[in-house]
Amino acid sequence: MKSSTMRLCLASASLMVLTACGPNAGESGSVITPAAEAQSNDGASGLSVSADVEAIHEGMLVMDTHLDTPAYFHTPDYDFSVRGSFEADGTHVDLPRMKEGGLDGGFWVIFTPQGPVDEASYHAARNSAVLRQMAIREMAAKYADDVELAFTAADAQRIADAGKRVVYQSMENAYPLGTDVSLLDTFYVGGLRMVSPAHFRNNQFADSATDVSGAKFGGLSPLGEELVQEANKLGMILDGSHASDETVYDMIELSTTPIILSHTGVDGVYDHFRNIPDELLMAVAEDGGVIQINAYSGYLEELHPSAERTEALEQLDAEYGSDYTSMDEATQKKYLEAREALNAKFPAPRSSFEKFMEHLLYALDKVGPDHVGMGADWDGGGGVDGMSDITFLPKVTAALLDAGYSEEDITKFWSGNMLRLLKAAEDARTSTLSSPGVLN
Ligand SMILES: [Zn+2]
Repeated sequence: MKSSTMRLCLASASLMVLTACGPNAGESGSVITPAAEAQSNDGASGLSVSADVEAIHEGMLVMDTHLDTPAYFHTPDYDFSVRGSFEADGTHVDLPRMKEGGLDGGFWVIFTPQGPVDEASYHAARNSAVLRQMAIREMAAKYADDVELAFTAADAQRIADAGKRVVYQSMENAYPLGTDVSLLDTFYVGGLRMVSPAHFRNNQFADSATDVSGAKFGGLSPLGEELVQEANKLGMILDGSHASDETVYDMIELSTTPIILSHTGVDGVYDHFRNIPDELLMAVAEDGGVIQINAYSGYLEELHPSAERTEALEQLDAEYGSDYTSMDEATQKKYLEAREALNAKFPAPRSSFEKFMEHLLYALDKVGPDHVGMGADWDGGGGVDGMSDITFLPKVTAALLDAGYSEEDITKFWSGNMLRLLKAAEDARTSTLSSPGVLN
């Protein structure tokens, strides 16, 4: 499976954005066309929950720990204040849909794809990560009446009570920090409160769960250990998503505060490199940490693309090679266009809301409601049939109530657990750096 892994996907049919989504390995399941999706939606937001459940959901502080939407902020076709639709443009999150789906906010991601591990590439990645953080801050400044940057655990409820959406920041892949972890301080000042060491491939900090070459360090590298210490010092949550199991064990052992898996599934439902086995799930929970369940189709179940799609993907690989990061810019552009056309003609199969709930309920059953939350990978490849964007979030509350979980449990799931981790990180911090509330 690893050898057929693609290192990118397109979240959108019309927006040419490289996103943080997963490898395209092991596709299968029913092919969901836009028309079929729209039919099953039953109205604008596709809600099938009662008014009572809607009211319960609306009354909770609802957050997601992996919003990849910032990848769109500097693209010409995306407008945060305008309601998009997954069927029309492939997007999941904007302000109108946050209101419809009762999403109060969460962690907005500074994502960097893994590139070569050398000085020139570090500098390029650093510049792009700084720009991504600026884009998040610019969004907060532009829509200051509707959203607000959050820096502490206490900020979330205060911001939500003021009728605004909450903007925490996380970094997916610490690669842009190069070999000097003190650069994390700069991102902290800008508002960063969560960091993950690696993405699809091993890098200078850690082994990835999906590197085709296998483990390099057997977990964290010495520099990765410095990263954990620096994050602890600053009061950031450490995120083990995309890291190898050994890396996550190292993070648990070294970090002075509990870790998060910001968008991850469970091997107990689908054995996949990006999911975690029961023993690791238990270890994360025993350490006080949290798993936030992913809604990325290829990690939820084994999916089988149509023969036509497989053949077209093979042709694309034969023409361009499968290593996106080693292509020059012009080739990347051509490749993305070809890939977009392919996806439109032979859509990727998608998993289902039921399968997503299977992962979620499995994790809850194993480690309980203090250790599970939501990180669906919105605008990074997440979304499933029956939960194609954030307007469907009340269905998750409904399903958890149906499964017998209390409103108190569900509040922990939506935000209580991740805020507990942030508070623990804050309480243990030794740095005196602060983040000025001044916007760009
Ligand atoms: Zn990811």
